[in-house]
Amino acid sequence: MNHGKNKMMQEIYEKVDDLWEEEVRFLQHIGRFPSTLGNEGALQSFFANYFKNELKLEVDSFVPDVKELSVHPAFSVPEWSYEGRPVVIGSKKGKGKKTGKSLILQGHVDVVSPEPSSAWDYDPWGATIVGDKMYGRGIQDMKSGIAAMIFAYRAVKEAGYELGADLSFQTVIEEECTGNGALAALMRGYKADGALIPEPFAQKAVISQIGVIWLRVKVKGSGAHTERAYQAVNAIEKGYIMIKALETYRNYINNRRKHKDYKDHPHPLNVNVGTFHSGDWPSSVPSECVLEARVGFYPDENPADIKKEVKKWLLKAAVKDSWLKKNPPEITFYGFHADGVSLDQSSELFEVLRKSHEETSHTPFETTSITCTTDIRFFNLYFGIPATCYGPAGGNMHGSNEWVDLRSMKEVTKVYSRFLTHWCNAEKENNQA
Ligand SMILES: [Zn+2]
Repeated sequence: MNHGKNKMMQEIYEKVDDLWEEEVRFLQHIGRFPSTLGNEGALQSFFANYFKNELKLEVDSFVPDVKELSVHPAFSVPEWSYEGRPVVIGSKKGKGKKTGKSLILQGHVDVVSPEPSSAWDYDPWGATIVGDKMYGRGIQDMKSGIAAMIFAYRAVKEAGYELGADLSFQTVIEEECTGNGALAALMRGYKADGALIPEPFAQKAVISQIGVIWLRVKVKGSGAHTERAYQAVNAIEKGYIMIKALETYRNYINNRRKHKDYKDHPHPLNVNVGTFHSGDWPSSVPSECVLEARVGFYPDENPADIKKEVKKWLLKAAVKDSWLKKNPPEITFYGFHADGVSLDQSSELFEVLRKSHEETSHTPFETTSITCTTDIRFFNLYFGIPATCYGPAGGNMHGSNEWVDLRSMKEVTKVYSRFLTHWCNAEKENNQA
């Protein structure tokens, strides 16, 4: 590395240090918005204002149009409205002649429910700091990453450097249920030479991710007062047959051949029953139960094929029960229709990320194959944009007492600032360097 580059990075890292207190307060501020599904609007208008007024970006805030999205093969069917839940894009055009490559920095603002809140030691919306940790729902996944990507850019800019390429920030909705927010931004025409998403996988870059589908199984019983319970059919007991069938399906798919990216993983494919609703009175036999589940599958499998396979598996289990044989479960699919993806690690994006990580943290660059999905699938599979995730370390994602390691978030901020200088080719403002 030449002397100019050294000096530039020193100035930018010092700026990250100068801005650190503000970055932590920023994370606390965005962490206190309870941006669960359907409630992202307030936080999105905060970002739209911040991008416009603080970062001086051109802002586009738009509500995804389900009809427009529905023609895309990667579309997932939502069961809720997008009204009042915009996707926000903040764009900055590189000055003058383009000397670097354009970049999208994307993060999702939706977070999963913190319930049961009573299981937390801290207010899920309090953004409480204890030592080097900050606690709260969504603090790790992935508001800390969003803070890091924004402050990385601020550090570059406020240290007096300009990017030689276009940069855009995207804060999206729906990552946790469909991915339609990311898809909507790409379908609206926002493209770049590469994209990074600071999802919190402990500063490891994602090289592979699992595909995911959601399903709903409705099982009918024949309800009655418990007095005649012996004549009735209890829907909860019949629903349990479906749960057991999903369990045997999980064992079956994990015992099949493993995808190369997961060959060392003991249990790559999770099948999770996430909800189960039935009954409303201890002395009544429930007449219906509904359960919802999530099924994972490998990058080289097709979500439509997996839906067929799961449905067939459940119906096969149902015919072994005389009641379910006559009253088959109703199996439908909604939400995630997400392909898995295995990435080309020899791409320049990985090369520059590796360099940015090593030059910042002085530890080996590590990669990971994750057992869940993220928005990178759309960029890589459908829009020809190399994209990966690289973000801070933390713990208890989606559980109680979710936290982020603030030291890691600071390092990620520095890695991103370094990535920006390499990828987008930062130069001293007015070329005085
Ligand atoms: Zn996430």
